[in-house]
Amino acid sequence: MKRLAILGSTGSIGQSALAVVDAHADRLRVAALAAGDNAALLAAQVARYCPEIVAMATADGADRLKAACGSQTVNVVSGPEGLIAVATHLAVDIVICASSGTAGLEAVLAAIEHGKTVALANKEVLVMAGELVTGAARRHGVSILPVDSEHNAIHQCLHGRDRAEIKRLILTASGGPFREFSADALDSVDAAAALQHPTWRMGRKITIDSATLMNKGLEVIEAHWLFGVTADQIDVVIHPQSIVHSLVELIDGSIIAQLGIADMRLPIQYACSYPERWDARTLPTLDLLRAGRLDFHAPARDRFPCLDLAYRALRTGGTLPVVLNAANEVAVEHFLDGKLGFTAIPRVIEETMNAHHVENVTTLDVVRRVDQWSQECARHTAQALELNA
Ligand code: MG
Repeated sequence: MKRLAILGSTGSIGQSALAVVDAHADRLRVAALAAGDNAALLAAQVARYCPEIVAMATADGADRLKAACGSQTVNVVSGPEGLIAVATHLAVDIVICASSGTAGLEAVLAAIEHGKTVALANKEVLVMAGELVTGAARRHGVSILPVDSEHNAIHQCLHGRDRAEIKRLILTASGGPFREFSADALDSVDAAAALQHPTWRMGRKITIDSATLMNKGLEVIEAHWLFGVTADQIDVVIHPQSIVHSLVELIDGSIIAQLGIADMRLPIQYACSYPERWDARTLPTLDLLRAGRLDFHAPARDRFPCLDLAYRALRTGGTLPVVLNAANEVAVEHFLDGKLGFTAIPRVIEETMNAHHVENVTTLDVVRRVDQWSQECARHTAQALELNA
């Protein structure tokens, strides 16, 4: 029996993780859950899975959770310490980190220090602190298993292969809803249109990131840290059908790909079962004949500049990826609020990056300080570019 902690259990990935537990109740047990603000849904999960410990982001949320749990006795904690308590609980073997944004950073590091296997769905953790997180994992002999579908695919393709045999990684991207839009048309798209992702059902922030290609940019940085390859060894291709989840080219010219349905339960199950493979039971299988054709195109880097901003951040290194990530979060928030145009998102990010003096990422304090600075700087930039301003 493997015992799970799920950070972000009420979100899209968290709910998929619980569906994997339901399908494998003989092999997986929920030991700990953490959510941001949704006390009602977390209370329903507590009633169903009876975890040893549960966390809400705030003390107020914890009070609402206790009220919603009624007579059931539960160990409720809150705040950043609460998240760490969930991630490091004695009864936990695998920590699935699916909390949104940067909240999971300390908790992931603490889980690694306590020897927990980390199944990582939150790419911000590696974008902001890849060196600290992978360094800690090496020191503590802990595996980081990627849940992000592309990296999960690469992990499967690389299984047991020597790093020296890798020529390059090829990340696939659906291209998002605006793949074929002209530069002019992109100027006037709104949040409602951007939230209509063609192939994946995901949270709001990542869906906008998919539309700008920043999601792929963040994934390039994530791939660098997970697989120890350089920016020059990571390529991106647009693959609108989202069936080939990513590929690895080996030095002899062979390309190995992983194909499957677009369903996050697949990579989550892989991370839970690794190094074994389990019967997917409740999941539909990929029907190649129905899928028909598979297309691949080069990304339109001029219309979607976020991708190259991410490459620049990775090549420069140090704190620049932190700035990229923080400025993007702010810009996306403003876009979702209807205050910023779609094509202004990369402008906010680029101007914030240009204003930053790059440092080395030596501690989490550096990461947090630069994150704060970047958010403030990006907010000012976004206000200056606001619609109707
Ligand atoms: Mg992905």
